Amino acid sequence: MRSVLISTGGTIAWSQRLQRMLSGAELVARTRVSFDEVVEVASAPSWDLSLADMDRIAQSVRTAIVGGAEAVVVTHGTDTLEESAWLTELVLGAEFRSAAGVVFTGAMRFTDDHDSDGPENLRRALDVSQAGARHDRGVQVAFAGRVHAARWVRKIDAWALDCFDSRARPPSAPAPPHGDGRINTDVALVKVGPLCQPALPDATGLVLEGTGAGHVPGRYHPDIANRLDSGRPVVVASRCSDPRPDPVPPDGALRAQDLTAEKAALALMVGLGVHPELVSLRSWWDELLAAGQAAGTA
Ligand code: ASP
Repeated sequence: MRSVLISTGGTIAWSQRLQRMLSGAELVARTRVSFDEVVEVASAPSWDLSLADMDRIAQSVRTAIVGGAEAVVVTHGTDTLEESAWLTELVLGAEFRSAAGVVFTGAMRFTDDHDSDGPENLRRALDVSQAGARHDRGVQVAFAGRVHAARWVRKIDAWALDCFDSRARPPSAPAPPHGDGRINTDVALVKVGPLCQPALPDATGLVLEGTGAGHVPGRYHPDIANRLDSGRPVVVASRCSDPRPDPVPPDGALRAQDLTAEKAALALMVGLGVHPELVSLRSWWDELLAAGQAAGTA
């Protein structure tokens, strides 16, 4: 089974001794986990990746599958691993998703720490990707002995070795609707609440991270209504860790439902890439939420 490692940097690649990131090839040599091909896409801590880098990571997974890979592992910094994994899920589409097992992993300890968690995480990620080939499991995250679906995984602890969680949701999520390769990055993600700025930024799409069940203070409502009237989407997410946002968000805004604000923003970028018109975007968005509900989670 053809396996590909896509290397992007992160703590799993960081050498304290050399004070630099190891390349994917060096990482493979050090951990002795072998792949048929190693692709170098980035070499950065994940908080420093740009949206363009994340898109490149997602596209390189697609390219690997087009090239015949059935097991694809992406090594990534843990801070924003969930964003890149979810964007990859949105970009893959049903055909590619079912053709290969795609698994993201990383580490909390440096590559040259004597007790680094990197080698074991990488080994496990390869196993999980091989087991997932042709099973339509979607993009997964293998970390600290657990497997999470890209849709639901979150980094919840800045220091623990087992830093990810997906709130007891299944390790594989149903396929979301996908994009057509274009993403519209003119999407702003904004926190809203009593302490937040009163004015919302000007952007094609807006994701609001509200409090509790996705509540948005009344002072923002007129602006939200105007945007929706002019065909610009507004999505309401929740800052809570298990968000089930209000079923009736203000003025017909879209709900993020089980998605974090960051994941909703990425989905909106992909959705707007295919459906610039709000009416058709709404159906695409409904499909996205239905995929979350299909697992009985929302
Ligand atoms: N602490 C992070 C990591 O685990 C740093 C990053 O996201 O690159 O890799």
